This record gives sequence, C-alpha cells and structure tokens, in this order.
Amino acid sequence: MFEYKKRSLSKNFKINLKSLLPSIQAQSGKFTRSITLVYEFLVAREITKLSMVSKQWYLASQDHFLWKRQCQYLAPQVLINTLEVASNLKITKEWPEEARRPKFAETVKWKLVWIEITYKCCHECYNLLNKLHYLPMLQFTLCKSCAKSPKYSMMSEESAELDYRISSEEIKRAGLPFIEVPHSHWTGKVAKMYYAIDLIKLAKINKEMPLIKRENCEEVRRTEILYYLKEKGCRDFDFIEYGLEVEGGWPWNYIKGKSQRTAQKVVSDMLGQYSHWLKKIEKEGQPKKRVKTAAQEVIDLD
Ligand SMILES: [Zn+2]
Repeated sequence: MFEYKKRSLSKNFKINLKSLLPSIQAQSGKFTRSITLVYEFLVAREITKLSMVSKQWYLASQDHFLWKRQCQYLAPQVLINTLEVASNLKITKEWPEEARRPKFAETVKWKLVWIEITYKCCHECYNLLNKLHYLPMLQFTLCKSCAKSPKYSMMSEESAELDYRISSEEIKRAGLPFIEVPHSHWTGKVAKMYYAIDLIKLAKINKEMPLIKRENCEEVRRTEILYYLKEKGCRDFDFIEYGLEVEGGWPWNYIKGKSQRTAQKVVSDMLGQYSHWLKKIEKEGQPKKRVKTAAQEVIDLD
C-alpha cells in the first residue's frame, strides 16, 4: 500500500524569527541597491537563500521595503491584524547586536509579519488560525476546510493516464511538482502524486474539465490497481475504466476499502474477465458506458 501525507501541520515547517534577524555587519553601497532590485522579483525563501552569497547580498536582503512587499503580495487582507502582532514584539538581549539597531527595526517588524502570514494565515480564505496545514510542494498554508478543496486534491500519474489520457512522459516533460510516495512493504517502489489541477491544465482538453475528487486513501488504492494492471501489460482503458467503476465489483470494493483481497489478487481476477469483456464488446459493438461513482466538480482554471 502506498502511504502519503500531502500536508503537515505548519508549525513543523515554521521558520522562526531568530533565524531571520539581521546579524552581519556590512556597508551599504550602490551595488547593494541593485541587488535589492533583483530581490524584488523573488519570494522570501529565495531571498533568504541568496542572501548567503556574500555580505553585500546579505545586507541587500535586509531592506524593509522588500519584506513589506512580500507581505503585501501574500495577504494584503490581513496586514492590519498581523502588524498588530508585530507591534507587540519586544527586542531581547539575546538578539544579535545588528538586529537591535534602530535602522533594522522596520525590517524585523516586516519579517515577523511575513512569518505570521506564511504560517498562520490560510492562503485561500485568509483566515488567521493557529492550527493550519502547510503544503511543502506549494509552500503555503491552508486551513482544514480549504485543504479539502478540489483545487488541492492529488492524483497519481496512473490515474491521470486513465482519467485525462496524458502519459507519464508528457507529465515528466512538463516538469510538474510531485511527491514520491513509498510502498509500505516493497522497497524501492514509489508512486508519484501530483496536484490534480496541474494535470488538468496539462490535459488542456476543456477549460471546464471536471476534476474527479477522491479521498486520499481511495486514490492510493486505485493507483495500486492501475500499477499492477500496467505491469501486467493491460492498456485497454475502456476495460479498466469499466472494471474500476462498477459498484460492488472487486476493484470497486478494494478501492472503497471494503475488500480483504490484495490489489494483486483483484487485478488477476479483473484480467480473468478480460476475454469475456472482449467477447461482449464484439457482440454488443460498443463498450458499456462508464458508471461514474466518483464525485465530480467543475473548477475554474483561471
Ligand atoms: Zn481557508
């Protein structure tokens, strides 16, 4: 079984203010200003990384306008509330000497606002909450209900191939972000999970293409069946679609978690029906229409 977590509590990823405090003494100059201009095209994490290049790059990253703009870009709706939090910030003796200088007071304030917004504000509904989930792939935070939005549901490449008819090669070429989910008892075997919304955009079939929303565990079980079918060389998508979606069938029961059979056994039973299916098609002409059991929602891709 493939196990995965698409999100973790945001506190596990939180960058603390201490690590962002100005700590290196450096002289400002013309060159520093030009670096700050480059930083304006980047996001906070990239700025922090690049600031390690040299003293000048470090000093350029301490410009408070830069951090203010980051906050305005992220969540202008909550700036007033988060600024209130920042105004209560107390300078402590443990801070590096540079961070305690008045010239950095604004920078420190906006860095704190950035931390508040990044880890305590839902990226979708802009509610400020204490318990949020951080999505490492997208690098932002969501509340529990927004995280359930179809926009953030995940899909394996096997499912994408079946549901949207896009090949793993196409997905690879597009360079979409993914997480690798290891198999619990099969060393070295992984499933790649993508954001369904990225896959739909790649499919480009219809702007109003339905997003098939499944529970994580169902998606994972479904992927397992698709994986074994592929391994056995079964590439008849009409047969697979029909087989998976018939309510009460072996695959359907397995996907819903109602079966004691293993995925391999389910696949071997499914393949045992294949010749019967082909004969049926020969006789009836057309494959039976797919029975849709998965919830479908149409989402706006713009
Ligand atoms: Zn939310």
